[in-house]
Amino acid sequence: MEIIGECVDYIPSGFWYRPFKRKLGRCECDHEVQLLKFTNTCGECGRDFSMNGTLLASRSQWGEETGESVDDILQAGHHVS
Ligand SMILES: [Zn+2]
Repeated sequence: MEIIGECVDYIPSGFWYRPFKRKLGRCECDHEVQLLKFTNTCGECGRDFSMNGTLLASRSQWGEETGESVDDILQAGHHVS
């Protein structure tokens, strides 16, 4: 994703306004995506991006990258002698 802009909104917070920076990026499909949250989904093609505009793995692939179970990961820390 290419970051094409950045702007600051002021959000009411108690008695003052808190600056809230947000970036505007352009997706690979040429659709503009505002980077407001931890995960930002392109409204055109459905790609997910982080707040920094990094392309995230598609949701259908989550958890398939490693064959490890949660137990394997937890036990790995206990082999130090
Ligand atoms: Zn897109």
